[in-house]
Amino acid sequence: MKVLAAPYLFTRASGGKAVCLADAALALDGDRVVEAGPRGAVEARFGRAEPLDAVVLPALVNAHTHLELSRLAGCVPGGGGLAGWIGRLVRERAAAPEDPAAVEAAVASLSRHGVAAVGEVTNTLAALPALRRAGLAGTIFHEVFGLSEARIGAALAEAEAHRDAAPGLGPGLRIVPSPHAVYSTHPREVARLLAAGPASIHVAEDPAERAFVTRGEGPLAGLMAALGADEVRPSGRSPLACAAGLHAGNLAVHAVDLDDEDLELLRRAGATAVLCPRSNLHVGGRLPDLPRLLGAGLRLAVGTDSLPASPSLSPLGELAELARAFPGVPADRLLPLAWDGVCVGAPSVGRLGPGTAPGVLALPLGGARPADPAAWLLQAAAGGAELRWIARHRPEAAA
Ligand SMILES: [Zn+2]
Repeated sequence: MKVLAAPYLFTRASGGKAVCLADAALALDGDRVVEAGPRGAVEARFGRAEPLDAVVLPALVNAHTHLELSRLAGCVPGGGGLAGWIGRLVRERAAAPEDPAAVEAAVASLSRHGVAAVGEVTNTLAALPALRRAGLAGTIFHEVFGLSEARIGAALAEAEAHRDAAPGLGPGLRIVPSPHAVYSTHPREVARLLAAGPASIHVAEDPAERAFVTRGEGPLAGLMAALGADEVRPSGRSPLACAAGLHAGNLAVHAVDLDDEDLELLRRAGATAVLCPRSNLHVGGRLPDLPRLLGAGLRLAVGTDSLPASPSLSPLGELAELARAFPGVPADRLLPLAWDGVCVGAPSVGRLGPGTAPGVLALPLGGARPADPAAWLLQAAAGGAELRWIARHRPEAAA
Protein backbone atom coordinates (compact mmCIF):
# COMPACT_ATOMS: atom_id res chain seq x y z
CA MET A 1 0.00 0.00 0.00
CA LYS A 2 1.28 3.46 -0.92
CA VAL A 3 -0.14 6.52 0.88
CA LEU A 4 0.54 9.97 -0.59
CA ALA A 5 -0.37 13.39 0.79
CA ALA A 6 -0.79 16.41 -1.48
CA PRO A 7 -1.65 20.08 -0.88
CA TYR A 8 -4.37 19.75 -3.56
CA LEU A 9 -6.15 16.56 -4.62
CA PHE A 10 -8.76 16.61 -7.39
CA THR A 11 -10.98 13.57 -6.97
CA ARG A 12 -13.80 13.86 -9.54
CA ALA A 13 -16.42 16.12 -11.08
CA SER A 14 -19.64 16.77 -9.22
CA GLY A 15 -22.48 19.02 -10.38
CA GLY A 16 -20.35 20.18 -13.31
CA LYS A 17 -17.48 21.30 -11.03
CA ALA A 18 -14.12 19.77 -10.21
CA VAL A 19 -13.94 18.63 -6.60
CA CYS A 20 -10.61 19.66 -5.06
CA LEU A 21 -9.58 18.70 -1.52
CA ALA A 22 -6.88 20.74 0.22
CA ASP A 23 -4.37 18.89 2.43
CA ALA A 24 -5.61 15.52 1.23
CA ALA A 25 -4.27 12.01 0.83
CA LEU A 26 -4.55 9.10 -1.55
CA ALA A 27 -4.10 5.42 -0.69
CA LEU A 28 -3.06 3.20 -3.61
CA ASP A 29 -2.73 -0.56 -3.86
CA GLY A 30 -0.50 -0.80 -6.93
CA ASP A 31 -2.46 1.19 -9.52
CA ARG A 32 -5.78 0.71 -7.75
CA VAL A 33 -7.31 3.55 -5.73
CA VAL A 34 -8.22 2.41 -2.23
CA GLU A 35 -9.22 5.76 -0.75
CA ALA A 36 -8.96 9.44 -1.60
CA GLY A 37 -9.98 11.97 1.02
CA PRO A 38 -8.96 14.36 3.79
CA ARG A 39 -5.42 13.60 4.96
CA GLY A 40 -6.40 12.95 8.59
CA ALA A 41 -9.03 10.37 7.66
CA VAL A 42 -6.81 8.52 5.17
CA GLU A 43 -3.81 8.49 7.54
CA ALA A 44 -6.01 7.19 10.39
CA ARG A 45 -6.81 4.13 8.25
CA PHE A 46 -3.56 3.58 6.36
CA GLY A 47 -0.78 5.22 8.35
CA ARG A 48 1.45 8.18 7.71
CA ALA A 49 1.39 9.56 4.17
CA GLU A 50 4.45 10.42 2.11
CA PRO A 51 4.21 14.13 1.23
CA LEU A 52 4.15 15.08 -2.44
CA ASP A 53 4.52 18.76 -3.44
CA ALA A 54 2.13 18.49 -6.37
CA VAL A 55 -1.43 18.88 -7.60
CA VAL A 56 -2.80 15.35 -7.89
CA LEU A 57 -5.65 14.54 -10.27
CA PRO A 58 -7.38 11.73 -12.20
CA ALA A 59 -6.00 10.92 -15.66
CA LEU A 60 -7.68 12.62 -18.61
CA VAL A 61 -9.96 11.87 -21.54
CA ASN A 62 -9.31 13.15 -25.06
CA ALA A 63 -12.75 12.60 -26.59
CA HIS A 64 -11.86 13.47 -30.20
CA THR A 65 -8.69 12.51 -32.05
CA HIS A 66 -7.75 11.38 -35.57
CA LEU A 67 -4.41 9.69 -34.81
CA GLU A 68 -3.94 8.35 -38.35
CA LEU A 69 -3.61 11.97 -39.59
CA SER A 70 -0.63 12.66 -37.31
CA ARG A 71 1.84 12.54 -40.22
CA LEU A 72 0.20 15.75 -41.52
CA ALA A 73 0.97 17.78 -38.36
CA GLY A 74 1.58 21.38 -39.38
CA CYS A 75 0.95 20.63 -43.09
CA VAL A 76 -2.62 21.88 -43.56
CA PRO A 77 -2.99 25.66 -43.29
CA GLY A 78 -6.28 26.90 -41.86
CA GLY A 79 -8.12 30.17 -41.62
CA GLY A 80 -10.49 30.00 -44.56
CA GLY A 81 -13.24 27.84 -43.10
CA LEU A 82 -14.14 24.17 -43.20
CA ALA A 83 -14.64 23.48 -46.91
CA GLY A 84 -11.26 24.85 -47.94
CA TRP A 85 -9.56 23.06 -45.05
CA ILE A 86 -11.13 19.69 -45.94
CA GLY A 87 -10.04 20.15 -49.56
CA ARG A 88 -6.43 20.81 -48.52
CA LEU A 89 -6.46 17.95 -46.00
CA VAL A 90 -7.72 15.46 -48.62
CA ARG A 91 -4.99 16.54 -51.07
CA GLU A 92 -2.20 16.36 -48.47
CA ARG A 93 -3.47 13.04 -47.15
CA ALA A 94 -3.47 11.49 -50.63
CA ALA A 95 0.06 12.78 -51.30
CA ALA A 96 1.69 11.61 -48.03
CA PRO A 97 2.03 7.86 -47.45
CA GLU A 98 0.74 6.27 -44.24
CA ASP A 99 3.32 6.62 -41.47
CA PRO A 100 3.05 4.16 -38.56
CA ALA A 101 5.94 5.95 -36.76
CA ALA A 102 3.94 9.21 -36.69
CA VAL A 103 0.98 7.34 -35.18
CA GLU A 104 3.24 5.74 -32.55
CA ALA A 105 4.71 9.13 -31.65
CA ALA A 106 1.24 10.65 -31.35
CA VAL A 107 0.06 7.85 -29.05
CA ALA A 108 3.21 8.32 -26.92
CA SER A 109 2.41 12.04 -26.66
CA LEU A 110 -1.10 11.20 -25.35
CA SER A 111 0.57 9.56 -22.36
CA ARG A 112 2.78 12.65 -21.78
CA HIS A 113 -0.40 14.76 -21.81
CA GLY A 114 -1.98 12.56 -19.13
CA VAL A 115 -4.54 10.85 -21.36
CA ALA A 116 -5.93 7.44 -20.31
CA ALA A 117 -8.91 7.22 -22.68
CA VAL A 118 -9.69 8.45 -26.19
CA GLY A 119 -12.50 8.88 -28.66
CA GLU A 120 -10.54 8.05 -31.81
CA VAL A 121 -12.15 8.69 -35.19
CA THR A 122 -10.63 6.62 -37.97
CA ASN A 123 -11.12 5.51 -41.55
CA THR A 124 -8.26 2.99 -41.56
CA LEU A 125 -8.08 1.60 -37.97
CA ALA A 126 -4.36 2.45 -38.29
CA ALA A 127 -3.93 3.50 -34.66
CA LEU A 128 -5.49 0.37 -33.18
CA PRO A 129 -2.23 -1.57 -32.51
CA ALA A 130 -0.50 1.48 -30.99
CA LEU A 131 -3.50 2.26 -28.74
CA ARG A 132 -3.62 -1.35 -27.56
CA ARG A 133 0.13 -1.46 -26.85
CA ALA A 134 -0.07 1.80 -24.90
CA GLY A 135 -2.93 0.42 -22.76
CA LEU A 136 -5.24 3.28 -23.73
CA ALA A 137 -8.97 2.75 -23.27
CA GLY A 138 -11.93 4.25 -25.10
CA THR A 139 -13.87 4.01 -28.32
CA ILE A 140 -12.65 3.74 -31.89
CA PHE A 141 -15.29 5.43 -34.04
CA HIS A 142 -14.97 3.79 -37.45
CA GLU A 143 -16.08 6.55 -39.76
CA VAL A 144 -17.94 6.29 -43.08
CA PHE A 145 -19.08 8.98 -45.52
CA GLY A 146 -20.80 9.17 -48.91
CA LEU A 147 -24.05 10.76 -50.06
CA SER A 148 -25.24 8.74 -53.06
CA GLU A 149 -26.44 5.16 -52.53
CA ALA A 150 -23.42 3.88 -54.45
CA ARG A 151 -20.89 5.91 -52.42
CA ILE A 152 -22.29 5.12 -48.97
CA GLY A 153 -22.94 1.47 -49.88
CA ALA A 154 -19.31 1.02 -50.91
CA ALA A 155 -18.06 2.87 -47.80
CA LEU A 156 -20.11 0.69 -45.45
CA ALA A 157 -18.94 -2.52 -47.16
CA GLU A 158 -15.31 -1.42 -47.09
CA ALA A 159 -15.51 -0.46 -43.41
CA GLU A 160 -17.02 -3.82 -42.51
CA ALA A 161 -14.23 -5.64 -44.37
CA HIS A 162 -11.65 -3.50 -42.52
CA ARG A 163 -13.19 -4.43 -39.17
CA ASP A 164 -13.29 -8.14 -40.07
CA ALA A 165 -9.56 -8.02 -40.86
CA ALA A 166 -8.61 -5.91 -37.81
CA PRO A 167 -6.36 -7.30 -35.09
CA GLY A 168 -7.88 -8.01 -31.68
CA LEU A 169 -8.77 -5.15 -29.36
CA GLY A 170 -7.11 -4.59 -26.00
CA PRO A 171 -9.15 -4.46 -22.80
CA GLY A 172 -11.10 -1.24 -22.48
CA LEU A 173 -11.27 -0.61 -26.25
CA ARG A 174 -14.28 -1.02 -28.53
CA ILE A 175 -14.95 -0.28 -32.23
CA VAL A 176 -18.25 1.22 -33.39
CA PRO A 177 -19.31 2.43 -36.85
CA SER A 178 -19.96 6.19 -37.08
CA PRO A 179 -21.09 8.71 -39.68
CA HIS A 180 -18.56 11.44 -40.58
CA ALA A 181 -20.94 14.41 -40.70
CA VAL A 182 -24.49 15.33 -41.71
CA TYR A 183 -23.24 17.13 -44.84
CA SER A 184 -21.14 14.19 -46.10
CA THR A 185 -23.15 11.10 -45.20
CA HIS A 186 -26.43 9.70 -46.55
CA PRO A 187 -29.17 10.94 -44.17
CA ARG A 188 -30.64 7.44 -43.74
CA GLU A 189 -27.24 6.11 -42.63
CA VAL A 190 -26.64 9.08 -40.31
CA ALA A 191 -29.89 8.25 -38.52
CA ARG A 192 -29.28 4.49 -38.52
CA LEU A 193 -25.69 4.64 -37.25
CA LEU A 194 -26.45 7.22 -34.56
CA ALA A 195 -29.48 5.28 -33.32
CA ALA A 196 -27.67 1.92 -33.34
CA GLY A 197 -25.53 2.59 -30.25
CA PRO A 198 -22.52 4.66 -29.28
CA ALA A 199 -21.40 6.76 -32.25
CA SER A 200 -19.70 10.07 -32.98
CA ILE A 201 -20.55 12.70 -35.60
CA HIS A 202 -18.98 16.04 -36.59
CA VAL A 203 -21.76 18.62 -36.46
CA ALA A 204 -22.15 22.41 -36.51
CA GLU A 205 -18.42 22.99 -36.92
CA ASP A 206 -18.78 25.78 -39.48
CA PRO A 207 -21.55 28.05 -40.85
CA ALA A 208 -21.02 26.46 -44.28
CA GLU A 209 -22.87 23.38 -43.00
CA ARG A 210 -25.99 25.46 -42.36
CA ALA A 211 -25.84 27.05 -45.83
CA PHE A 212 -25.54 23.60 -47.39
CA VAL A 213 -28.32 21.77 -45.52
CA THR A 214 -30.81 24.66 -45.55
CA ARG A 215 -30.28 26.00 -49.07
CA GLY A 216 -27.92 23.63 -50.88
CA GLU A 217 -25.45 26.51 -51.22
CA GLY A 218 -22.05 27.62 -50.05
CA PRO A 219 -18.52 26.25 -50.18
CA LEU A 220 -19.52 22.74 -49.04
CA ALA A 221 -21.92 22.33 -51.99
CA GLY A 222 -19.06 22.11 -54.49
CA LEU A 223 -16.99 19.81 -52.30
CA MET A 224 -19.89 17.44 -51.64
CA ALA A 225 -20.74 17.05 -55.34
CA ALA A 226 -17.92 14.47 -55.47
CA LEU A 227 -19.72 12.42 -52.79
CA GLY A 228 -22.99 12.36 -54.74
CA ALA A 229 -24.75 15.52 -53.50
CA ASP A 230 -26.59 15.84 -56.84
CA GLU A 231 -28.32 12.53 -56.07
CA VAL A 232 -28.87 12.86 -52.29
CA ARG A 233 -28.55 16.19 -50.48
CA PRO A 234 -29.07 16.33 -46.72
CA SER A 235 -31.67 18.93 -45.93
CA GLY A 236 -33.16 20.23 -42.71
CA ARG A 237 -33.71 23.23 -40.46
CA SER A 238 -30.06 23.15 -39.30
CA PRO A 239 -27.09 20.78 -39.29
CA LEU A 240 -27.97 19.64 -35.76
CA ALA A 241 -31.56 19.00 -36.82
CA CYS A 242 -30.19 16.75 -39.60
CA ALA A 243 -28.49 14.52 -37.01
CA ALA A 244 -31.64 12.44 -36.58
CA GLY A 245 -31.38 9.64 -34.04
CA LEU A 246 -28.93 11.53 -31.82
CA HIS A 247 -29.15 10.16 -28.26
CA ALA A 248 -27.33 10.06 -24.94
CA GLY A 249 -24.78 7.50 -26.15
CA ASN A 250 -23.56 9.77 -28.97
CA LEU A 251 -20.86 12.41 -29.30
CA ALA A 252 -21.73 15.59 -31.23
CA VAL A 253 -18.29 16.95 -32.10
CA HIS A 254 -17.58 20.72 -32.41
CA ALA A 255 -20.97 22.40 -31.62
CA VAL A 256 -19.77 25.82 -32.80
CA ASP A 257 -22.71 26.97 -34.94
CA LEU A 258 -25.82 26.30 -32.83
CA ASP A 259 -28.95 28.43 -32.50
CA ASP A 260 -31.31 28.26 -29.50
CA GLU A 261 -33.45 25.55 -31.07
CA ASP A 262 -30.32 23.47 -31.71
CA LEU A 263 -29.24 23.84 -28.10
CA GLU A 264 -32.61 22.59 -26.90
CA LEU A 265 -32.48 19.69 -29.37
CA LEU A 266 -29.03 18.70 -28.17
CA ARG A 267 -30.00 19.01 -24.51
CA ARG A 268 -33.08 16.83 -25.01
CA ALA A 269 -31.09 14.22 -26.93
CA GLY A 270 -28.62 14.04 -24.04
CA ALA A 271 -25.67 13.62 -26.42
CA THR A 272 -22.27 14.91 -25.30
CA ALA A 273 -20.99 17.94 -27.18
CA VAL A 274 -17.23 17.49 -27.66
CA LEU A 275 -15.44 20.84 -27.97
CA CYS A 276 -12.19 21.15 -29.95
CA PRO A 277 -11.46 24.87 -29.57
CA ARG A 278 -7.90 25.01 -30.92
CA SER A 279 -8.95 23.13 -34.06
CA ASN A 280 -11.93 25.48 -34.50
CA LEU A 281 -9.62 28.50 -34.24
CA HIS A 282 -7.21 27.00 -36.77
CA VAL A 283 -9.82 25.93 -39.32
CA GLY A 284 -12.42 28.68 -39.11
CA GLY A 285 -11.30 31.27 -36.57
CA ARG A 286 -14.38 30.78 -34.37
CA LEU A 287 -14.94 29.17 -30.97
CA PRO A 288 -17.93 27.37 -29.50
CA ASP A 289 -19.92 29.73 -27.25
CA LEU A 290 -18.92 28.04 -24.00
CA PRO A 291 -20.96 30.18 -21.55
CA ARG A 292 -24.07 29.58 -23.67
CA LEU A 293 -23.42 25.82 -23.86
CA LEU A 294 -22.88 25.64 -20.09
CA GLY A 295 -25.97 27.77 -19.50
CA ALA A 296 -28.07 25.40 -21.64
CA GLY A 297 -27.10 22.52 -19.35
CA LEU A 298 -25.45 20.46 -22.09
CA ARG A 299 -23.15 17.54 -21.38
CA LEU A 300 -19.71 18.71 -22.50
CA ALA A 301 -16.38 17.02 -23.12
CA VAL A 302 -13.14 18.11 -24.77
CA GLY A 303 -11.03 16.74 -27.62
CA THR A 304 -8.02 17.94 -29.52
CA ASP A 305 -9.04 16.90 -33.05
CA SER A 306 -6.18 15.90 -35.36
CA LEU A 307 -2.59 17.15 -35.32
CA PRO A 308 -2.95 18.94 -38.70
CA ALA A 309 -5.67 21.03 -36.98
CA SER A 310 -4.31 21.35 -33.43
CA PRO A 311 -0.85 22.02 -31.94
CA SER A 312 -0.90 19.00 -29.58
CA LEU A 313 -3.05 16.17 -28.23
CA SER A 314 -3.30 17.79 -24.77
CA PRO A 315 -6.83 18.06 -23.33
CA LEU A 316 -5.54 20.57 -20.75
CA GLY A 317 -4.14 22.64 -23.65
CA GLU A 318 -7.67 22.83 -25.07
CA LEU A 319 -9.12 23.81 -21.69
CA ALA A 320 -6.43 26.48 -21.27
CA GLU A 321 -7.55 27.95 -24.60
CA LEU A 322 -11.16 28.03 -23.36
CA ALA A 323 -10.00 29.64 -20.10
CA ARG A 324 -8.15 32.33 -22.09
CA ALA A 325 -11.13 33.00 -24.37
CA PHE A 326 -13.81 32.89 -21.65
CA PRO A 327 -12.25 34.38 -18.50
CA GLY A 328 -15.70 34.55 -16.88
CA VAL A 329 -15.94 30.75 -16.75
CA PRO A 330 -14.27 29.43 -13.57
CA ALA A 331 -11.48 26.90 -14.21
CA ASP A 332 -13.14 24.36 -11.92
CA ARG A 333 -16.03 24.22 -14.40
CA LEU A 334 -13.58 23.44 -17.24
CA LEU A 335 -11.68 20.48 -15.76
CA PRO A 336 -14.75 18.15 -15.80
CA LEU A 337 -14.72 18.39 -19.62
CA ALA A 338 -11.52 16.31 -19.58
CA TRP A 339 -12.85 13.70 -17.14
CA ASP A 340 -15.86 12.24 -18.97
CA GLY A 341 -14.69 8.66 -19.37
CA VAL A 342 -18.30 7.51 -19.71
CA CYS A 343 -18.78 9.30 -23.05
CA VAL A 344 -15.98 7.22 -24.64
CA GLY A 345 -16.94 3.95 -22.94
CA ALA A 346 -14.23 4.13 -20.25
CA PRO A 347 -16.34 4.71 -17.14
CA SER A 348 -13.54 4.34 -14.58
CA VAL A 349 -11.44 7.11 -16.20
CA GLY A 350 -11.80 10.65 -14.90
CA ARG A 351 -12.50 10.00 -11.20
CA LEU A 352 -10.56 8.56 -8.28
CA GLY A 353 -13.15 5.85 -7.61
CA PRO A 354 -12.21 3.36 -4.86
CA GLY A 355 -11.55 -0.08 -6.32
CA THR A 356 -10.75 1.26 -9.81
CA ALA A 357 -7.44 2.02 -11.55
CA PRO A 358 -8.36 5.24 -13.42
CA GLY A 359 -4.78 6.52 -13.78
CA VAL A 360 -3.48 9.21 -11.40
CA LEU A 361 -1.42 12.25 -12.41
CA ALA A 362 0.72 14.75 -10.54
CA LEU A 363 1.90 18.19 -11.57
CA PRO A 364 4.72 19.46 -9.32
CA LEU A 365 3.93 22.71 -7.50
CA GLY A 366 7.52 23.83 -6.92
CA GLY A 367 6.43 25.24 -3.57
CA ALA A 368 3.54 27.27 -5.01
CA ARG A 369 0.24 27.33 -3.09
CA PRO A 370 -2.22 28.86 -5.59
CA ALA A 371 -5.58 30.16 -4.41
CA ASP A 372 -7.23 28.64 -7.49
CA PRO A 373 -5.54 25.27 -8.12
CA ALA A 374 -7.72 24.54 -11.19
CA ALA A 375 -6.65 27.77 -12.90
CA TRP A 376 -3.03 27.14 -11.87
CA LEU A 377 -3.18 23.65 -13.37
CA LEU A 378 -4.47 24.92 -16.73
CA GLN A 379 -1.88 27.68 -16.85
CA ALA A 380 0.96 25.32 -15.99
CA ALA A 381 -0.18 22.77 -18.59
CA ALA A 382 -0.51 25.47 -21.25
CA GLY A 383 3.04 26.54 -20.39
CA GLY A 384 4.29 23.04 -21.19
CA ALA A 385 4.65 21.67 -17.63
CA GLU A 386 4.79 17.88 -17.78
CA LEU A 387 2.35 15.64 -15.97
CA ARG A 388 3.78 12.67 -14.07
CA TRP A 389 1.96 9.37 -13.72
CA ILE A 390 1.64 8.27 -10.09
CA ALA A 391 -0.52 5.27 -11.00
CA ARG A 392 -1.32 3.86 -14.43
CA HIS A 393 -4.76 3.31 -15.84
CA ARG A 394 -5.71 -0.37 -15.92
CA PRO A 395 -8.61 -0.72 -18.34
CA GLU A 396 -11.41 -3.10 -17.59
CA ALA A 397 -13.30 -4.85 -20.38
CA ALA A 398 -15.26 -2.17 -22.27
CA ALA A 399 -18.97 -1.96 -21.52
ZN1 LIG B 1 -12.66 15.42 -36.30
